[in-house]
Amino acid sequence: MQDAAFQRCIDPTCGYTLGIREYAFACPKCGELLDVVYDWPRLNPPRSLEDFDDLRADFRNPLNFSGVWRFRQLIPFAPENEIITRGEGQTQLRPGRHAADYVGVMPERFHLQYEGLNLSGSFKDNGMTGAFTHARMVGATRSACASTGNTSASMAAFASGTGLLEAIVFIGLGKIALGKLAQALDYGARTIQIEGDFDDAMARVQEVCRETGIYLMNSLNPFRLEGQKAIMFRVLEGLRWQVPDWIVVPGGNLGNSSAFGKAFAELHELGLIDRIPRIAIINAAGAPTLSNLVNDRGLAWNDGHVDNGTIEAYYDEMDRENIHACTIASAIGINRPVNLKKALRTLAITGGVVRTATDEQILDAKAIVGRDGIGCEPASGASVAGARLLRQEGVIAPDDTVVCILTGHQLKDPNATIWYHSMSAEASKAALEKYGVCSAGHANEPIRVANDIDEILRAIG
Ligand SMILES: *Cc1c(COP(=O)(O)O)cnc(C)c1O
Ligand SMILES: [Zn+2]
Repeated sequence: MQDAAFQRCIDPTCGYTLGIREYAFACPKCGELLDVVYDWPRLNPPRSLEDFDDLRADFRNPLNFSGVWRFRQLIPFAPENEIITRGEGQTQLRPGRHAADYVGVMPERFHLQYEGLNLSGSFKDNGMTGAFTHARMVGATRSACASTGNTSASMAAFASGTGLLEAIVFIGLGKIALGKLAQALDYGARTIQIEGDFDDAMARVQEVCRETGIYLMNSLNPFRLEGQKAIMFRVLEGLRWQVPDWIVVPGGNLGNSSAFGKAFAELHELGLIDRIPRIAIINAAGAPTLSNLVNDRGLAWNDGHVDNGTIEAYYDEMDRENIHACTIASAIGINRPVNLKKALRTLAITGGVVRTATDEQILDAKAIVGRDGIGCEPASGASVAGARLLRQEGVIAPDDTVVCILTGHQLKDPNATIWYHSMSAEASKAALEKYGVCSAGHANEPIRVANDIDEILRAIG
């Protein structure tokens, strides 16, 4: 008999299945993405979301302390004694008065889910705990990922922190924010800088893993997405199990948006929620693949029968015109998102929408979030910038409940922040102009004064 949890190809015309203790990062038959699928009645699912309130109160058990495994009944692919946790997911909803005003919604119905507080400083830890658990279940000894920086930071931290695996990181040359590179190096990962961009690194790491059997930790890995479902569980927990109207999330490789859609589909299937929030995925204008395919070319999930011709034609055009991702929000500077089809599924499940935000809009939004005392990296600002655009369009209503996901910590990319806030300096201006950023409307410039008490007193006003 099949396991109560197993893996299955997302293409309904293929439907190939693998056991939970098997490893393949793509369908062995057709090469499509894999899902983790549950036969729920055999898995003791919770009867009500309030059941989790008790677990939250019991932090002596490390599995309850984890903001992911507290919800293990909804991520039931591993026996408890095989779960790898490092206390990830200690994050929660926060208010943001300035950000709510900026978006144009009621402050009491506006929330920021600040994933920068994870142990490696981004939401990636939610997924890494899932993938490491699975890696242990299949006896992996080496792991690899391509990364714009946060996946590698998280993987390296888990690899060293657990001693389970050796970590090998592939990054594009010159494309990684300072803080993220610092992490991979400090955590002792073998770090390989490829002369190319993220999309190149992503292609090469798949070849490497196919050739060597090294365990792939990118979000192609369906166990990453299982862990990332917990971000949505915590959002609901923070809202006392009330479903919001909107979840707004930046879209890069589209793992998060894919995981969120799956989380809500499963909660709905289990009768734990009675409606599904709409998910807005925000691309950077300099890496707009999902937006272009969905909004301009009509690409849709279509019950799993996605029109591959449309995707291939788009990628061919990009190659012909030598188009590469270009955005200061480096974490979403991805033009060939590996989870594209799962993100289309999320849009179908949730009545979702896709928008793009320019780097200027992204950095402005990031600065506004800063005024609320929360530091996020540029990619995270995309969610707030996107919510504002959707509010201006009237797609988000002024009294909607809106949750913006802040995916990573401000200190990941100090350069971007400093450039924005000191744009009158020639070097900052030049750095930002490369990304088409011409003004910094919410800058807080440092004030330079002589070493003189009268001048200092004048400056502090
Ligand atoms: C990885 C990452 C993203 C993109 O998330 P996807 O799941 O790849 O769409 C956005 N922001 C930050 C900070 C990230 O690290
Ligand atoms: Zn298949």
